[in-house]
Amino acid sequence: MRVIQRLGVSAKDRDLAVKWAKRCLREITRKDYELPVDYAQARNDLVVTVKRAGHRSSACAMGITIDISAYSKGTSALLEYPAFARDPVIGSRDAITPELVLASTIAHEVSHFVQYRYGPDTRWLKKRFRKPHGEGFQEIYRILRSKVVNPHLQDV
Ligand SMILES: [Zn+2]
Repeated sequence: MRVIQRLGVSAKDRDLAVKWAKRCLREITRKDYELPVDYAQARNDLVVTVKRAGHRSSACAMGITIDISAYSKGTSALLEYPAFARDPVIGSRDAITPELVLASTIAHEVSHFVQYRYGPDTRWLKKRFRKPHGEGFQEIYRILRSKVVNPHLQDV
């Protein structure tokens, strides 16, 4: 995993972002999900850029870019994409800890990375990975939210 730390990002915040990115990769590379890579390979493939510029986070087949501005400000609201904002598993959440808002954002962006990087070579994603927030994306994100992020929501 190559980690790029932009100006204004502390080592602590960078490490927090990396921790959640690794948790997401560890889950989605379990054999049950049939991705064409194992955890070690996926870790090797992913570039994580952490910045603090007040922009949106984003992702592509090369990696994810996480903007930690919202986390630094202590935001407690996770605003999801309108098409699934009301979904009980992958939707928006209110009054959660800033770390779990960040974790959800990372899970969202890792899902984009997985869809574009491995979608073409994954049996159940092949035909539905292309649409940015379409079916394939939502299935990946549903796995990551339900297994990696949401279990922590009950703690608060
Ligand atoms: Zn997105």
